[in-house]
Amino acid sequence: MRTKLVVGNWKLNGSLAGNEALLKAVQAGVSAAKDRICAVCVPYPYLAQVGSLLRGTAIAWGSQDVSRHEKGAFTGEVSGAMVAELGARFAIVGHSERRSMFGETDSIVAEKFAAARKAGLTPIFCVGETLAEREAGVTESVLARQMDALLSKQGAAALEGAVVAYEPVWAIGTGKTATSAQAEEAHAFIRARIAAQDAGVAGRLPILYGGSVKGSNAAELFAMPNVDGGLVGGASLAADDFIAIWRAA
Ligand code: PGA
Repeated sequence: MRTKLVVGNWKLNGSLAGNEALLKAVQAGVSAAKDRICAVCVPYPYLAQVGSLLRGTAIAWGSQDVSRHEKGAFTGEVSGAMVAELGARFAIVGHSERRSMFGETDSIVAEKFAAARKAGLTPIFCVGETLAEREAGVTESVLARQMDALLSKQGAAALEGAVVAYEPVWAIGTGKTATSAQAEEAHAFIRARIAAQDAGVAGRLPILYGGSVKGSNAAELFAMPNVDGGLVGGASLAADDFIAIWRAA
């Protein structure tokens, strides 16, 4: 049995006061569990605050990105080591918003994945097709290309202990969730792609679904054999909904 994971992605949201209130409310509904992990990925400036609010609780935390560089003249960048030093466990890499709005290519994302690992963080590697790609029937070739950028250079072994998130771009922030069958099909494809290199790693790898996950649809998605939890954007900003999603895992 793979551990289930529910990870909140706050995106560009938060304030010192708001974070504290939200996390207090989330903590009230999330307790330590053997079979599932709860985490929040927050903007960089809040990592220290969130780390001190969550230390000793059942909720882990992480960043939403990480630089592919370790140090030096890279104005505005934040390294994996900096994030790890604050006690973070996770780092999202290759979110579709980073890919589409900030020019992150498959190879940059693969470098970020390696940088996060090197810093001791657990990368959450995001992949997913756009609506145009789904309608053109090329979903699997897009997922293969995104996965292969990692698998061809770093090998399946690099995914040991890491996390993959399948997030169809057309479902992110749109209120349009993939059906559980669509999610399962994509997750099974991703797992098989990895299994072709290393069946053991593929079998242990948590693959999260992301894209308009809510309290009302989480249980159905998470019941799929290859769906190991969720990466949750909008609903992670509302404690009740986020708790309901965690309970469904
Ligand atoms: P959403 O975002 O839950 O608001 O659709 C998910 C994500 O982008 O990680």
